Order: sequence, then structure tokens, then C-alpha cells
Amino acid sequence: MNTASGFSDPLVTDTPLPFPELCARIHDRIRTFLDAKNVSDRIRNVQAQTRISLDVIGEALEQYRLPELSLSYNGGKDCLVLLILYLCALHKKGLAQIPNPSSNIETAVQCVYIQDAHPFPEVEEFVVRSSKIYSLALLEYAKPMKAAFADYLKDTPLVKAILVGTRRTDPHGEHLKHFDPTDSGWPAFVRIHPVIDWHYVDIWTFIRFLNIPYCSLYDLGYTSLGGTTDTHPNPKLVRQPSPPHAPQTCDTNGTLKSKFRPAYELVDDYEERLGRDR
Ligand code: FAD
Ligand code: MG
Repeated sequence: MNTASGFSDPLVTDTPLPFPELCARIHDRIRTFLDAKNVSDRIRNVQAQTRISLDVIGEALEQYRLPELSLSYNGGKDCLVLLILYLCALHKKGLAQIPNPSSNIETAVQCVYIQDAHPFPEVEEFVVRSSKIYSLALLEYAKPMKAAFADYLKDTPLVKAILVGTRRTDPHGEHLKHFDPTDSGWPAFVRIHPVIDWHYVDIWTFIRFLNIPYCSLYDLGYTSLGGTTDTHPNPKLVRQPSPPHAPQTCDTNGTLKSKFRPAYELVDDYEERLGRDR
């Protein structure tokens, strides 16, 4: 089952598992990933980042009760990794239990999704699909971010802290810590940044090693997802043109290969947003 490049069977399937089982399965996979020996420097680095992120999420789960915590989820690769780590941590802390009306434990993962003004259908589809797979209690808003979070706090008055998948090389990411209050002028809550020090390549190494399903746009050369009017495939991933009369290359399923290589082939953090206009 566990090959040199990771797990060949998918971590999850489209048929949702009961929540406790889902979290236990994710936990076991991550445990096996963390225990893997004689691995490349790249994997060793991701193992170290994974441990740090799980500690940060563990600290969040000590500081806040589940109804006080939420996760900002837009179907992108960074918050997907964050979500998987969160589900692992819930199992570790014994918080991934079957909802029981007589207990105070809430198990569905509270999430907030702010729809872009011009959303990609592929992103929308992935958000819906992944919400089912991971039993997300997702509230969706179609308005600018500040207004959306103001509404979200009104709709979920218990929420005090929100997990965010921002990384150091994102705009505004440079000075963030693991825990930061929102800036002045923003609705007040604590931002939690467990994957802040992950590099672009770490995110893809984790997703691919653990065989986690991701949004289909990444296979078409998109490396950072915004809306349809301001996001393009990353020019660094354009395939070299084939020589004239060369046979057209196909993917394994027989469809013509995209003009762009997949997102996971990019390496440099600072090239990630070359397909974004803003
Ligand atoms: P990404 O790299 O895609 O976003 C990084 C992470 O932000 C994602 O992994 C996800 O967790 C979250 N996110 C991004 N877009 C969405 C979305 N549409 N719906 C749900 N989650 C999303 N800016 C400030 O200047 N001061 C603040 O105090 C501040 N607080 C914020 C609090 C939260 C919870 C979020 C999500 C954003 C906040 N921002 C704040 C805005 C932030 O700095 C980025 O501008 C914004 O997240 C877009 O990031 P990005 O384009 O780098 O997208
Ligand atoms: Mg990002």
C-alpha cells in the first residue's frame, strides 16, 4: 500500500465516510507519513512542517471549544491541506465523535466560503464535492471579504477564531504569526495560521504523497485560484510546443494533453501567483 512516492489508494472517496471514521483514517495516514524513514529531504521537511502545524491546531483546540472555531475554505490547495490537518487533530484530541444531542460536542467542521464575484465552475464544484466528503458545515457568502466576515460572525455568534491557509509568501503573509487578531477595520476575531511556513512545494508534496483529491483546475496549469476574470494558467507551466508533424500527446485516459503542465510541477514560491492579475 505504502509506496516510495506515497499511498497509491486515495485518502478519501466520493462516498462520505462517517465523520469519526474519516478523521481516524486521515489520522492513520498522517501517522504513517510522519513515521516514514529513509525519505528524501523534501519529504523530511514536510514531515517537520506537518508536526508544527498539528501542534498549532492542537493549541487552538486547547484554547477554543469547537463551536468557537471555524475554517476559511475556498477549495484551494492551502486550505485543503489545513482542513486535512484539522481533521487529523480532531481525531488525536478525541473530538471527532458522532453527534450526540445530549453532549455539547459538535462534530461537523464549521467553515466559511466567500464566493468570488466571477467564480470558476470547477472551484464551485470542488467546494460542494469536498464539503460532502469531509462533512463540512459550510456557510457561503457572495460579497466582499470584510462584509462577508461581518455577516458570518452575526450568523455564528459563538465563533471566536478562524483557521486560515495563508502562507508566508502570500500578499500580507510576511509578518503573520500562528495566532493574530484581525487588523483594525476588519471584523474582530483571531486568525490562526497553522501552515504559514509551508512552501508551495511542501503543499503539493503533502497532497500528492497522501493522495488527496484536489480541484481539477490545478491539473490545467492554474497554481493560485481567484476568479475567471483575473486568473489564468501559470505561464511558467506552458508546455514546449511539439515539433511540426509530431504525434499529438495524450494523457493516460486518451484526452489531449493540456497546453500547460500541472500545478505540482512548479517549484518556486514566488512564481505561484504569475497566473493571477491581482
Ligand atoms: P489564497 O492564497 O487563496 O488564500 C489564503 C487563505 O485564505 C486560503 O487558504 C483560505 O483559508 C483563505 N481564503 C482566501 N480566499 C477565501 C475565500 N474566498 N473564502 C474563504 N476563505 C478564503 N486582510 C487584512 O489585511 N487584514 C486582516 O485582518 C485580514 N483578515 C482575514 C481573515 C480571514 C479569515 C481571511 C480568509 C482573510 C483575511 N484577510 C485579511 C485577507 C487576506 O489577507 C487575503 O487578502 C485573502 O485571504 C486573499 O488571499 P489570497 O488572495 O492570498 O488567496
Ligand atoms: Mg494560497
